[in-house]
Formats: sequence, structure tokens, C-alpha cells
Amino acid sequence: MEQQQDLLKDIISHSKEYGFIFPSSEIYDGLAATYDYGQLGVELKNNIKTYWWKAMVQMHTNIVGIDSSIFMHPTIWKASGHVDAFNDPLIDNKDSKKRYRADVLIEEHIEKIKVKIEKEVDKGKLKFGEAFNEVEFRQTNPNVLRNATKITDIESRFKETLSNDDLEGVRQLIIDLEIACPISGTKNWTDVRQFNLMFSTEMGSVAGEASTIYLRPETAQGIFVNFLNVQKSGRMKIPFGIAQIGKAFRNEIVARQFIFRMREFEQMEMQFFVEPGEEIAWYNNWKIAREKWHKALNLGDANYRFHDHVKLAHYANAACDIEFNFPMGFKELEGIHSRTDFDLKQHETFSGKKLQYFDTNTNKSYVPYVVETSLGLDRMFLSILSASYKNETLEDGSSRIVLTIPPALAPYKVAILPLLKKDGLPEKSREIMKELQFDFSIQYDEKDSIGKRYRRQDAIGTPYAITIDHQSLEDNTVTIRDRDTMEQERVDLSTIRNFLLEKTGWNSLLLNQ
Ligand code: ATP
Repeated sequence: MEQQQDLLKDIISHSKEYGFIFPSSEIYDGLAATYDYGQLGVELKNNIKTYWWKAMVQMHTNIVGIDSSIFMHPTIWKASGHVDAFNDPLIDNKDSKKRYRADVLIEEHIEKIKVKIEKEVDKGKLKFGEAFNEVEFRQTNPNVLRNATKITDIESRFKETLSNDDLEGVRQLIIDLEIACPISGTKNWTDVRQFNLMFSTEMGSVAGEASTIYLRPETAQGIFVNFLNVQKSGRMKIPFGIAQIGKAFRNEIVARQFIFRMREFEQMEMQFFVEPGEEIAWYNNWKIAREKWHKALNLGDANYRFHDHVKLAHYANAACDIEFNFPMGFKELEGIHSRTDFDLKQHETFSGKKLQYFDTNTNKSYVPYVVETSLGLDRMFLSILSASYKNETLEDGSSRIVLTIPPALAPYKVAILPLLKKDGLPEKSREIMKELQFDFSIQYDEKDSIGKRYRRQDAIGTPYAITIDHQSLEDNTVTIRDRDTMEQERVDLSTIRNFLLEKTGWNSLLLNQ
């Protein structure tokens, strides 16, 4: 864990040093939980968006995208339940004066017990070697069973208190579990209070209740209120989906984990409209599809796990998270929710407009059910950085920092490096660059020794580097260096474009989805 926390620190400073992410408003000492994406960050971010958009929209004939506005009619947030129920339970430690989310304290406690179970299983593996039967071990080992029961008990008590809005019960659970503040180490807790996460502001020049509007806390509602517009104008037939990428804002109580939890962030959401009764089958389909999308990145399959929700949100009849093994441990990366017909029905009630689909086969209208996939773009960014950041010791004893970012997502696909800054090598290099720059983002670098330049490209995750030397002038060959293996190969210039397309193009990620 200690080591993992160091990894987060390393990633934060590396991100700043190379222009991926800067603290927002830094010259004014920053603004809590807001960050700016720098020159490399914006490239990686755009590539993640493109990967998502291609997989969700381009590759599905029945999914289209929209871009709705951030400001929306305030009644939308009444209808969606956000005005009344978009709260987090907060609790303060009286000694450290630090504020926490009560639900997160309990979830982290559960996570510690899970870690104990996994340790016990690992011990079993070591002890029994080849003969180890993991399933049986999990079902019979007394320590595993005791801890598993503990988890079930906590989860059911937690679920009960939350669904009864029993905040005193939540506090009592924290006390009974003897959860201590990580800063002060004490168990001196205040009452638990609910805190609404929506930012509000005023529209127009007249202040007052009627003009209060909210910054959207999720992009989904922009999709719901446009359901009929898209369905009619696009002549969409159910099942169909609407996708959107955009900013969302939440006044998070605790925002201490870099871009994992920000007050302004970006979401990539897709609402899939289905016939009532078919939602669970579609929910399961989307779970599989989204898992494939993540795993195609090759960040390590063991870094992902599903977590089924204990307490379903008021609108859901099934929900899970895809969790990623971040430097802070396994945490939510993406949510997949079967939202029933809750949202569309609410908007029908509050707007007085029908939001129904007319099925030409049965000649009947109905309010569709919705399965949603909701991914945080910034969390996706952090998952890629944390799995890609490596501090390697090389055979000659030297070391390098390399970001093994999936090539299709890397900010630059290739670096063009003239071996020397003379003898016509820069001119030849620029010629090559001109030919490739329509298709690839390229970095040109002629400063410092070639070794130093390779290190710089490793540190920003450029998958390939082309070096132009004197021989290149004679026979049109160059060397191409692979970031991960550091191997170099001399190839004919005419092969480069296809090579790069194959290795860094979208096919490499989308082919098997
Ligand atoms: P958490 O439990 O971590 O607060 P959530 O369950 O409230 O997250 P959702 O409402 O399901 O999150 O939002 C969908 C996705 O948006 C999340 O899976 C996450 O990737 C992203 N997200 C939510 N809140 C934030 C935030 N404050 N900063 C960055 N990304 C966020």
C-alpha cells in the first residue's frame, strides 16, 4: 500500500513535469480538486474519447451521439431526483477536523477485510501448491468464512441504514466497526449529515428562486430529455442508444485523490433504450462489452473487477461498477446501471409531455427501459497512467522511466530524430515528417544526444522513434526503435507508414470488439 501511494505521488509529479496534468490556477496556489490538462494530457484525453466514441458510436449502427448543453432547465433536476436526493453522507473527525464520506469509510473498512481474505487464500496457495483447490478453500477455510460473514453483516446493516435514511445508524455502524480517522487515529466522530453535491448558480440578471440553475452533475439527463428528438429525427428503432461525452460538476466532500475525484470532470455516458422486460439481458450484454473494451487496452486483466451494488439507487433494478486497481486500491472506474423507465417517466410527469416509443409491430406505445454505461474520462486517464508508469532498471545498470501507454492512445505515435543536427539529416527528417504528419501525431526532436532523446520519448510514452542517419541519405532506410523492447531495426522508409498504421491505428484496439 505504502509503495502504491508512492506510485500516485510519482505519477502526479511526472504528469506535471512532462505536461500531462497541472494543478488548476497554480500561480494562485491552486483550487482544490480541479486540474488542467497540459499539452500531452489533452492528446491522451482526446485519444481516450476517440477510442470510446468509435467503439460505442461508430461501431454500432444503432447508437448515435449528441452534445447537450451544461445548463438545463432547473426542473430537470427536480424530476431526476438530484435536487432532493443527490446527497452524500458526511462525517467529521472532531480531532483532525477532517471531513469524510461515511459510506466511503465503511466501504474502505470492508475492503480491508477483503484484503485479509485474499491473503489467507495466498497462504493456502503456498501451503498446498499444485493440490490447491481455491473454490473449496474459500468455502471451507474458517478464517475466510469468518471474514466473509463479517462482510455480509456489515453490508446488510449498511444497506438497511441507508435505505431507511437512518443517519444515526450509519454513525453507529462506524463506531461499532471501530473505524478510526487515518489522520488523528481517533474515533471521535460528529453526527452524519447529508450534503447535496450540485453546484448552483443564477441565470440572467434577476436573482431569486426562479432563476437558480444547476451545473449538471451528470451528462445522462441531457440524453433523456432529447430522447424523442433523437428517436424521431434519426428514425431510431428500439433497441438503440444515445452517447455523449461532456463535463459534469459535483461539489465533492472529499477530493484528495488527484484526478480520481474532481469537482469538475468529464463523463462518457451511453443510454441504451430497450423494451420493458429486456433490460436485464441488455444489462448483461453491456457488462460483457464494456469489460472487453477495457481489457483490449492490455493494462493487465487482473487490474479489473466487477462490484455489484449493495444498495441500488432509487432508479435502478440492477447496477454494478467496473473497478480498477488504482494506486489507492480497487475503485470505481465505470458504472453500468439498469435504470428502468424511471427517468423518462419522471420527465413525462414533470414536463407534461409524452416520452414514449411507438412500436410499429404491435401498434402500441410504451416508455422504454434504459441501460446506461457511465465512464469517467479522468478516471480512465488515471487508470492508463497508473498501469503504464514504470521505473525500469536496465541491463547496463542505468534506469529509465517509461510510460507503456497503449500505442493507439499515446500522445505522439512516433518521434523523428535526426542523428546529428547537420549534414542534411534535419532536412531529410523534416521531409519524412511532412509525409507522415497527415496520419500521425509526431514529435520532432534534434536536441541532445540520441540516448537522451530516446529517454524523453520513453517518459512521454511515444511507442516508436525513427532515427535518420547518414545511411538514410544514401539508401532511404531508417532505424525504428520500439519503446517497450528498446530494440532497433533498420527498415526501408517506404514501409514505415503501413507499419505505424498497423501498430498504432484504431484497428489494434477495435478489431475484436
Ligand atoms: P463515486 O462512488 O466514486 O463517487 P459515483 O458512483 O457517484 O462515483 P457515478 O454517478 O456512477 O459515480 O458516475 C459515473 C462515473 O463518473 C464514475 O464511474 C466515475 O468514473 C465518474 N465520476 C464520478 N464522480 C467523479 C468525480 N468527482 N471525479 C472524476 N470522475 C468522477
